[in-house]
Amino acid sequence: MKKGLLLFLFPLLVFSVFDGYCQSINEPTTVKGNLYLGVAESHVKSNLKYEYVAIEDGISEISFYLTNDVEVDELHGEGIKGYSFNKDNAQIPFGILTVDFKEQLEKGQKIRFTLSYSGTSSKGFWGQTYKWIDIDPDFMILPAFTDHHTFDYEIIAKVDDPDYKFVDAKNQQMTSPLNVKAPSANYFASIVAGSKINFNQFTEDGYTVNIISNKPDSVVNYLGYKNLEILKFFNSTIGGKKKVNSFSVLYRPMPDSIFRTIRNLTNDRLIMFTNNHDHIHTLAHEISHFWWNRGNDFTMEKWLNESYAQYSELLYVRHTEGLEKFQQEISYLGKVSQKLPALLKSDRFGKNWSDLLYIKGPYLLYQLEEFLGKEKFMQLLSNLNEKEVSNTEEMLCELEKISNSEIRDMFYQKLME
Ligand SMILES: [Zn+2]
Repeated sequence: MKKGLLLFLFPLLVFSVFDGYCQSINEPTTVKGNLYLGVAESHVKSNLKYEYVAIEDGISEISFYLTNDVEVDELHGEGIKGYSFNKDNAQIPFGILTVDFKEQLEKGQKIRFTLSYSGTSSKGFWGQTYKWIDIDPDFMILPAFTDHHTFDYEIIAKVDDPDYKFVDAKNQQMTSPLNVKAPSANYFASIVAGSKINFNQFTEDGYTVNIISNKPDSVVNYLGYKNLEILKFFNSTIGGKKKVNSFSVLYRPMPDSIFRTIRNLTNDRLIMFTNNHDHIHTLAHEISHFWWNRGNDFTMEKWLNESYAQYSELLYVRHTEGLEKFQQEISYLGKVSQKLPALLKSDRFGKNWSDLLYIKGPYLLYQLEEFLGKEKFMQLLSNLNEKEVSNTEEMLCELEKISNSEIRDMFYQKLME
């Protein structure tokens, strides 16, 4: 994923991750219900049944992020005292719905309640021009716990216009209604519906790419061909010892000036993408995440994902557009990197995090490639993926294996200055 709104919530997520480990003996909270989408009015209506399981002793209230665009129609259950929906939050672009219990819950204790809400959504509907609905997790059209603890989610989504069908990327078909299952609202794939969306399959040399889109054939064909080219390139370089044979791209019809979010759902091998189709490099970054997906997201170890993905994109640029274009990009990275602090010593959520991950990190990899030579460097990248290296220490070990301890120390120094 690249620069989604979720990033902004990450500091909160850190705590929930640890909670998750401690609470794994509990049954998860379950949320089941319906999401109704009204095309003409951009209307959303949701009925959700919660079976909440307390994650610790003494819980007397729980809260959710929920879009400001809706009103709560109903919230009731036997143990519920009341609720408040505060839409005026300085720090975040959503409302916070707080549910009060009559009595404190003990850890593991269950409480059931029903939540209904509805309203006209300012986000997710691109009806008139693009005939597209995209219920992105970041819009909070489906509520997420503010403490981000995980839960099982089962939503049946329905749309009122028979011209619209949902994208069922798993089964490679259009469908209505759509059943959504996910371990948490933050990690479901966008619920996407549109008119005349097609699945287009492209196959070559044993590789398959599916383009899901309602764009014209010429665009779809171009994209299919380019994605295959990128996939083949990575399978012969960074993924030489761990091949990926297929994936899907859900290519939205609107320009990225309207909706920029890109998601790489690595487990489902699905990339959700909005862009001008001639800006194909971004896709190379996202596709490379099928390999680069292991560094800890909450620390600067994330460089093992993002800096490597960004440099992989540049390798693809060098491969297809030549050395001159590549060098242009590199000299820009070099110039900006000079002003940046040490990559590994910096704060993941500090003000330079983005430049460190997407500019300085790739620049250091460029310097490493210059030092090792192209062949050794490619061998290193391929080894990192074969071994599924998940932290910098392991990465440095792999570097030492193909070179020596002096080079390892030299590169470590670069990461620390
Ligand atoms: Zn990325």
